[in-house]
Amino acid sequence: MAFHARHLLGIEPLSPMEITTILDLADRYVDLNRRTVKQSDTLAGMTQINMFFENSTRTQSSFEIAGKRLGADVMNMNMATSSVKKGETLIDTAMTLNAMHPDLLVVRHGASGAVNLLASKVNCAVLNAGDGRHEHPTQALLDALTIRRAKGRIDRLTIAICGDVAHSRVARSNLILLGKMGNNLRLIGPPTLMPSGFAELGATIIEDMREGLKGADVVMMLRLQKERMDGGFIPSMREYYHRYGLDAEKLAYAKPDAIVMHPGPMNRGVEIDGEIADDINRSVIQDQVEMGVAVRMACMDLLARNLRSERGRRIAESYV
Ligand code: ASP
Repeated sequence: MAFHARHLLGIEPLSPMEITTILDLADRYVDLNRRTVKQSDTLAGMTQINMFFENSTRTQSSFEIAGKRLGADVMNMNMATSSVKKGETLIDTAMTLNAMHPDLLVVRHGASGAVNLLASKVNCAVLNAGDGRHEHPTQALLDALTIRRAKGRIDRLTIAICGDVAHSRVARSNLILLGKMGNNLRLIGPPTLMPSGFAELGATIIEDMREGLKGADVVMMLRLQKERMDGGFIPSMREYYHRYGLDAEKLAYAKPDAIVMHPGPMNRGVEIDGEIADDINRSVIQDQVEMGVAVRMACMDLLARNLRSERGRRIAESYV
């Protein structure tokens, strides 16, 4: 099995082989999730703690369902009422939890790099569920699985990522993953929402949406992240929708069989037209949610295997 990582902190350290290993295993979990009885005992006896310092609907419930289907004991910490609000530092909270011997810690935090810092302090496996503008690895993996199942491959595709790239960890993780797998990547958006370093990740930056969508196999829309904006990044919502909102007229520039994706939550009428989002012939947004559970099951399964063998090795060494 080509996956030896201790944590899942980002896509950056993963090899194409490791990415393929996760996607192949996730495919098997998609089948399990479609059965009436979805239970497996892969994580039986293990404890999973979900710590979400930022709001989440999809990701947190997806991790919770994934852990429960694998038989783990899952605890959701409500960070709004936790000691963090009383001034406890992230590291103190982590060390307190660590003393309770969790096996898997799923963390979302508003600060880029916070999850990496936390991972260096605890004994369990840490999964990054989104840290600031940095990475959201399970989102990129679920997007890759969705694309691979819809298009039959995850290489040599023209993929347009559109909208608020500057504030998006989804865009960053996807860019890294899809680049590693050998795709032709385009970033579309206004210059105010386009960070400078992204061209170096191998993408072509295009300001005009119609131009950018020409011949695309995949159109990935991003949410306008108003909570991370501290100034006037766009003239108005109306103007933004006019130039960058995905509607039928703009989508017609992509290939006739192009799929439409969105990580959610969606702002209908801002970055995407509601009819396109609901069009089952074009939109794979619901598939993304379904793939999310399977990908998270695969990631936790693989990390738990590595954790077990690491602990087994340590016990064996203590007898020598
Ligand atoms: N749910 C994704 C994230 O947590 C995308 C978004 O919020 O726009 O980054």
